[in-house]
Amino acid sequence: MIDLHCHSIYSDGYLTPTELVKKAQNLNVSMMALTDHDNIDGLEEFRNSAIEHNIRPINGIEFSTKWKKYDLHILGLNIDPKSPHILEAIARNCESRDLRAKYIAEKLEKIANVENAYEKAREIAGHGFIGRPHFARVLLHEGKVKEFQGAFTQYLGKGKKAYMPTNWESLEYIVNAIVQGGGQAVIAHPYKYRLTRTKLHELIKAFKEANGKGIEVVSGRMLKSEIIELAGIAQRFGLLASTGSDFHGVEVSEILPGKQALLPENVVPIWHEM
Ligand code: AMP
Ligand code: MN
Ligand code: MN
Ligand code: MN
Repeated sequence: MIDLHCHSIYSDGYLTPTELVKKAQNLNVSMMALTDHDNIDGLEEFRNSAIEHNIRPINGIEFSTKWKKYDLHILGLNIDPKSPHILEAIARNCESRDLRAKYIAEKLEKIANVENAYEKAREIAGHGFIGRPHFARVLLHEGKVKEFQGAFTQYLGKGKKAYMPTNWESLEYIVNAIVQGGGQAVIAHPYKYRLTRTKLHELIKAFKEANGKGIEVVSGRMLKSEIIELAGIAQRFGLLASTGSDFHGVEVSEILPGKQALLPENVVPIWHEM
């Protein structure tokens, strides 16, 4: 099994890179990418323990980007973690992320009576990276919502009471950083953005012009019909196909590492060029 999309505690995952690797090994994963959001802090531990457990490690990252009015996720696979282009892109997105975290905390203090929300999220996060899922866990711990998911539908999701837009770097900037950083850029989970077909085609055109190479044909839990459609799109637009579980932890993810559906036969897997 191959899994090119997973998270650890260095972003919003629940396992350390080593725990993630052990879990993946038990599930017969042979090649794996760690793709934490906007950071690469787990890659060294991940690489060492993957090699120790006979898994081929791929250095990855999942960048947040802005394209038109959409927040899109772009995977960088096989990146050089020392590349100044990658490091600069990370620094810029992290600054915006931290600023947003402060705004979200202020909002939650006002509208949900959560005291010291920033510090609490930071403590749960543990490694400096603060994402909306950490605020979701604060809301859950404080009894403001009954379920993790409810934190998004009531407070943190787009357009909800504590939603704050983030000044992510542009699609073009991020794809360029990945390419200059020796990696391959991949559009993550294309179905999650609720793009019309026309908009998706427009996105792919902009992505290819920026030198993007791949698209996630399989990502986490998907319908068979969605996979077939995305495989057709990959084929038609000459994009390499990627696959991943987008596993964050058993607490929040239905699909375990390597347990996502197989890629259809009519696509070219991205690892053929890695
Ligand atoms: P952030 O990068 O801080 O905006 O957080 C985005 C992350 O939050 C995603 O990668 C998911 O892990 C999680 N997430 C986003 N929307 C939802 C949702 N509706 N329900 C549960 N988790 C979500
Ligand atoms: Mn996430
Ligand atoms: Mn994502
Ligand atoms: Mn992800």
